Amino acid sequence: MAEVYSFEDLIHWNALTAGWQLPGRLAVFGDPVAHSRSPQMHNPALKETGIAGQYVRLLIREEELPAALRELSRQGFLGANLTIPHKVAALGLVDRLTDSARHLRTVNTVRVEPDGTLSGHNTDGPGLSRAVEEAFGGPLGGQRILILGAGGGAGRAAAVQSALEGCPALVLANRTLAKVESVAAEIRGLRPETSVEIIDGSPESLRRALPGVDLILNASSVGMKVDDPALVPADVFLPRHRVYDMIYAPERTRLLEDAAAAGASVANGLAMLLWQGVLAFEYWFDRPAPVGAMRRGLGL
Ligand code: NAP
Repeated sequence: MAEVYSFEDLIHWNALTAGWQLPGRLAVFGDPVAHSRSPQMHNPALKETGIAGQYVRLLIREEELPAALRELSRQGFLGANLTIPHKVAALGLVDRLTDSARHLRTVNTVRVEPDGTLSGHNTDGPGLSRAVEEAFGGPLGGQRILILGAGGGAGRAAAVQSALEGCPALVLANRTLAKVESVAAEIRGLRPETSVEIIDGSPESLRRALPGVDLILNASSVGMKVDDPALVPADVFLPRHRVYDMIYAPERTRLLEDAAAAGASVANGLAMLLWQGVLAFEYWFDRPAPVGAMRRGLGL
């Protein structure tokens, strides 16, 4: 069985997989997608709950997403997860959105309804919330938070989730400032009590911002490649900082290395992957997810 399937494969899915003992019924769409560890938790979950099916990775390019989503019901899929770069685009491509997807303005989970229509949901925000609590023992709501990459899909979800949970102060950093302005406007509308500042993520802007925050979240894709540059100057971390990197491959990014060396508490994105996956499973199947099997699948 190939590790990663293509859009071409999806179009011919039923024929291609006719000989499989367990039909491919769930997938993650992304580009890149080979790094995704979602199959490692969803396949044990399917096995544990006796649901006949398997979860596969599909390399779907940006321009292929509309057609790929339409193929889901045609090819007998029950649902899919979306990762880079599809989460924002999917908002306009599904038939309806849950409150969570509407508020977080991104879709990471799609469910195929019995009539073949698609519902878009978001479990990244609540998944992040559970992961941060598990890692550092405190809820998002009680902390002043800096989000790196706040204009991307995961960053927007993190920002809105933090505000919805009552975070007192948010600093939103993004290389492309225009992308984060709408996030700031949305948060001001949703929860005026949360103070919101926008910065461009330059070393100078981070030097000014870091002393005033408790939790630093990396929601950018910087760090996925081992030779990526440092996002934050190493000498600005404080021992009281908590640093959560949504990236989990590599296990320890340069950001986490530098923060840990300064005495800060750090955690990678594996627990967020787990919890967003648990919530996605529960959305697809309307039943409790086997968290223990999923955790073991990820080696957590
Ligand atoms: P996305 O929508 O494509 O957003 C990417 C973000 O990274 C944008 O803010 C982008 O800034 C920023 N960025 C990219 N290259 C940059 C660079 N060279 N310098 C500075 N900023 C840069 O992707 P996403 O879906 O939000 O995912 C972002 C990351 O979160 C990925 O690493 C993904 O694997 C991770 N994630 C993990 C989980 C989990 O469960 N652990 C869940 C969701 C996402 P611009 O706006 O300027 O382009």
